[in-house]
Amino acid sequence: MASSKKTKKRTSIRTVKYVISSFTVCITAVFLLFFSTYTIYLTKNITQKQCEQDCKTIAQAYSHVVNAFLEKIETSLYVFAFNDYVIEGSTSQIVKHIIAHNYMKPHYFSTLFFVDLNGKLTTSEGMVTDASDREYFKKLKDLKPYDFVVGDITSSKTKGIPSIQAIVPIYSSDMKLKGGIGASIDLIALQNSFDDSRINFQGRIFLLDKNGLFIAHPDKNFLMKKYTPSVEAYKEITSEVVSKQRQGTFDTISTTGEKVRIFFLPVDNTDWTVGVSVPYSYIFNLYNILRMLQIFSIVVIVVIIVIFVSIGYFSIFKINKSYDPITDLYTQEKFESKARKLLKKHKDSRFVLIDADLRGFKFINQNYGEVIANKILVKFGNILKEKTDSVKGICGKGYADHFYIFAKITSPGKTIEYFNNTIDNINNLLKQEDFPIHAKYGISFLYPEKVTLSSRKTIKNLIGEASFAKSLIKENLTKEFEIYSPKIEEKIRYEQKIEHNTEKAISNDEFFVMYQPKIDLETDKIVGAEALVRWKSSDKDLGLLNPGQFIPLFERNGFIEKLDFIVYEKVFKFLRNQIDIGNPVVPISVNMSRNHTKSDKINNFITNFISAVEKYKISPELIEVEILEQSVANDKILLQKIIEELHYKGFSIAMDDFGSGESSLNMLSSIPIDVVKYDQNFLRHNNLKDSYEFISSLVELGKKLNKKIVFEGVETKEQRDFLKSIKCDLAQGYFYSKPLIEEDFINFIKKYK
Ligand code: C2E
Ligand code: CA
Ligand code: CA
Repeated sequence: MASSKKTKKRTSIRTVKYVISSFTVCITAVFLLFFSTYTIYLTKNITQKQCEQDCKTIAQAYSHVVNAFLEKIETSLYVFAFNDYVIEGSTSQIVKHIIAHNYMKPHYFSTLFFVDLNGKLTTSEGMVTDASDREYFKKLKDLKPYDFVVGDITSSKTKGIPSIQAIVPIYSSDMKLKGGIGASIDLIALQNSFDDSRINFQGRIFLLDKNGLFIAHPDKNFLMKKYTPSVEAYKEITSEVVSKQRQGTFDTISTTGEKVRIFFLPVDNTDWTVGVSVPYSYIFNLYNILRMLQIFSIVVIVVIIVIFVSIGYFSIFKINKSYDPITDLYTQEKFESKARKLLKKHKDSRFVLIDADLRGFKFINQNYGEVIANKILVKFGNILKEKTDSVKGICGKGYADHFYIFAKITSPGKTIEYFNNTIDNINNLLKQEDFPIHAKYGISFLYPEKVTLSSRKTIKNLIGEASFAKSLIKENLTKEFEIYSPKIEEKIRYEQKIEHNTEKAISNDEFFVMYQPKIDLETDKIVGAEALVRWKSSDKDLGLLNPGQFIPLFERNGFIEKLDFIVYEKVFKFLRNQIDIGNPVVPISVNMSRNHTKSDKINNFITNFISAVEKYKISPELIEVEILEQSVANDKILLQKIIEELHYKGFSIAMDDFGSGESSLNMLSSIPIDVVKYDQNFLRHNNLKDSYEFISSLVELGKKLNKKIVFEGVETKEQRDFLKSIKCDLAQGYFYSKPLIEEDFINFIKKYK
């Protein structure tokens, strides 16, 4: 199929394009991801190395600061030691000297003291204590001139604050050791000087002695103490371990509980270790930012890919949704949206919407197979498309065999004319080798000049109207299209209402019978009557209904078969009642619907009819059955059978509305009916005189065949007089009486029998 190939081609070009671009997007995404990961990896290394480098530099710088500080201490001590009083003098002179020069001691000396060889220590403030247990004292004996020694970290003997003691030896001019001059250095003061020299740096600096005690620490509470991290994983990394190892790097938990990386190295010329601790978050700050950026970009890439994939998917999907795969016409959805656009563009134009389908398409589909059925759809689609294109309209395909056309028109009249001229051409084109195919069309027009803005119809409204109009076309081929009008819709609504109220009508007993007298023209006396049904509906909108308003519908939906028997029962009951109370009665004619005159229904009808008559014990001579000429015209054998069976039971038969159908007058000779009721139309000619001759011959013929002749619809005296003059038997009509309710009918009989 050419058109489905077109759609496939369209779809596959899109698919290829889509796959290629998806592939490109994915490759780019993967590359970007790889690139960013590598960059981040590099950055991570660089930042780490950079940080390590910085920290080492800082640690070294601090090592120098410490050394410089120690040198300052040494220098200060020698300022006191290099003095003739000290070198030459006695112990008491030395003590006097330092006491006298106490004011000269630097601020970071908490005490200045002299210790003799027995360990007796005298401070520059004159306090005396025993220092023989101190480490620096033990080292004093081994010190050479100009040496300098720093002792362990301790609480100072005199003030009890965390301190370190430094000492220089004092030799006499004959090189005899006399003792040493030393100082206690307040660690807090030391720490303060560290704090003062702090450079702009995120890390913290600490100083450990050889036993792992803090000599300097930003938190002064830790001075002279050791530290063990409280977190299990880092328990091993104690200050002792660091001071033993002297140089290296550890990841641990700081005294503030933060995750940190520490870099540490020995302080030159001492057994101390200086360390720098830097928070992890700082080291990895850039790295973390980059990582976040990466995660963000991954999310963005994924979102882009998802959007891209779905756009691609939907665009392919949309193609499939826009074109019918069999006919390559627009799908209904697309058709509607295109039509809406066209309508919007030409707000003041007239339009036509056509809903078409193929008659018996289901039958074709089931009996000839899908392939042929599709072939026909394609053919029909192509024909419609070609016709539509020629008027710049839009053509679409709905469900199954439904097709839609929407086009701008100049006038509905011209459109119908064009349509009428084109239908045969379409049917010819549609014809398959061995069977004809016909379409039927529902048409709806849009006249912008006739609508107010608020009642403007939408495309959906127009489709609804067109398909409604189409639904009114019967399956026989007499009509090819129907045009929507609000009137037909009104009629349908009305019928729907009637249908809706039928059940209720039975249960409420809303049907009743009226009787129209039949008069003997010779005597002017009543000789019979016809039973005619009426419906007094409890629905206010319906009210009192004449048979013309509901019988055609009941014939279509079959309810007439039931209604006839409701009428029969009422008639028989009425007769029975009249007889029982001794009122005079006349034979009654009842109408038999064309629905009963079907070969599969007639037996049932006769049986039920007879049993209804028997139920009320009505004599058959009192009953006449009116059969419609049109209902039996085509089946003489069936008519024969009906008449025979009813005759057998003693009923008489009238042929109703004779002359309204196509039966020939000759037919009367071969059918044993008793009464001929000529159709009312014979009397409806404008000038009755023109048809006198014809009516005379009708009556004459009937009489010749020994039938009783009835004319109904006799309304005027002229009609009555004429019929009387030609010896017509009976008359029924408004001239004598309209159909009467039971009570009036009883009185009529009493008066005219
Ligand atoms: P129909 O059997 O031909 O009944 C005669 C119709 O002509 C009646 O209309 C009657 O009221 C009307 N008619 C009588 N005289 C005149 C007249 O002088 N002038 C005019 N213009 N009309 C006259 P109605 O009662 O409206 O019934 C219409 C049709 O409905 C009947 O035509 C009959 O075919 C059908 N019908 C009525 N009752 C029944 C029924 O119980 N069962 C069946 N199956 N059909 C019924
Ligand atoms: Ca009748
Ligand atoms: Ca009639």
